[in-house]
Amino acid sequence: MTTIYTSTRGGQQHVTASQAILQGLATDGGLFVPEHFPQVNLDFEQLKGQSYQEIALLIMKAFYSDFSEAELKACIKAAYDDKFDTDVIAPVKKVGTEYYLELFHGPTLAFKDMALSILPYLMTTAAKKNQSTNELVILTATSGDTGKAAMEGFADVENTKIIVFYPKEGVSKIQEQQMRTQKGDNTFVVAVEGNFDDAQTRVKEMFNDLALRQTLASHQKQFSSANSINIGRLIPQVVYYVYAYAQLIHQQELTNGQTLDVSVPTGNFGNILAAYYAKKLGVPIGKLICASNQNNVLTDFFTSGTYDRNREFYVTSSPSMDILISSNLERLLYEVSGQNTDTTSYLMEELTTKGSYELEVALREGLSDFLVAYATDEQTQLAIKQVFDREGYVIDPHTAVAKHALDQMTQLSDPALIVSTASPYKFPESVVRAFDEVKHVENEFGWVTALYEETKLTVPPAVKTLFESPILHDRTIPVDEMLPCVKEILNINE
Ligand SMILES: *Cc1c(COP(=O)(O)O)cnc(C)c1O
Repeated sequence: MTTIYTSTRGGQQHVTASQAILQGLATDGGLFVPEHFPQVNLDFEQLKGQSYQEIALLIMKAFYSDFSEAELKACIKAAYDDKFDTDVIAPVKKVGTEYYLELFHGPTLAFKDMALSILPYLMTTAAKKNQSTNELVILTATSGDTGKAAMEGFADVENTKIIVFYPKEGVSKIQEQQMRTQKGDNTFVVAVEGNFDDAQTRVKEMFNDLALRQTLASHQKQFSSANSINIGRLIPQVVYYVYAYAQLIHQQELTNGQTLDVSVPTGNFGNILAAYYAKKLGVPIGKLICASNQNNVLTDFFTSGTYDRNREFYVTSSPSMDILISSNLERLLYEVSGQNTDTTSYLMEELTTKGSYELEVALREGLSDFLVAYATDEQTQLAIKQVFDREGYVIDPHTAVAKHALDQMTQLSDPALIVSTASPYKFPESVVRAFDEVKHVENEFGWVTALYEETKLTVPPAVKTLFESPILHDRTIPVDEMLPCVKEILNINE
């Protein structure tokens, strides 16, 4: 069975997986989705004994069916190696009566590594398969974690360039330091005077700019995307839900077939959509808890059926979720509308022109697998403190949002998996503040030391050396200069 992709908006069809990965976004601005959802035989009695890499191969074979098994094996082997600090890649930990799926054991300490460590290999393999000799220009807007993880993956990869835009005031100090010290001759990092949505909107505009695409083509270049709109990022995220379920059976925490609820700290809706895809594939997932921070546009959407981005934007202690336009929701709208591209296009058009849309009542039924809740910064802090005081387990603010949301769901009785998306050392100030409101430190690294003193949690080596590394990028521009900036970097000022 081959899996063929189509745009959620209907304007581009019959695209192979490798073409979809290369292209990133469909030409009509839609996202690529499988025309027919693939079927995978998920025999958990067998899967429970398999490695992360073996399960990755099973899932990717189904979704990326125009790649050969040898090609996928090579990509998986190169991606999931000792750049992760644990052989199991994604450990499942039992904490009290709940389980945490730790997705932060990669090089940049956040879950983006799970997909971005493999995306460069998938993309360069896809380029070869399609006889494309163009230089791939990865254009990315980041709320803090994607940018670093993508650069780490693409640094010095031949025939690629990566340009990352991040909101100047919207990322943590550690995230900013990680990006500004990025090595690699082909990496470019630019701070933008605006928020993530401003940056993401401009990036999408550049993708959809036909004239710009033609100019690039005449210079033997083409854009691609490392954002979670790329199907090359989404599918690797499905893998860890299959793996987590298999591990819970292996650890005899679940019986085969038993329902598991999952709580996911959500921003662009990529991670939780991967959980939804895993459920569609047959993983016995029950409820999908969509956890938001104060930017609770999704909480309102699932509650009322109206998506409205016309609201105040908050900078919170979980900055990777400070998003008002959750791009991957488009893929869910496509599903709940019965794969109706007209409905999906219409809703997305409303979002662009009015900043809001309303889902028909009949279609809201399709959202019933999702439960929603959000956490304020204060509630986030409280969750960090309570989990540590009760269980001695340290969680970062994003994970704490998911924990808080789960705690609101008192009607649920199945075992629950909390998706843990970042190392506490990526956001040490917020975590320390949860224990000690008035703590004062000398410099940024002081928060790392303070967190160690509070918790005795081992400091990851990547954090230790971070503040000794030289700053290699320090450019800040207004939002309106993003396009000229890209042209300048690519030397296409015709
Ligand atoms: C990106 C990110 C999220 C949000 O994930 P989405 O797939 O965008 O919903 C949550 N937590 C952390 C730490 C992240 O980096």
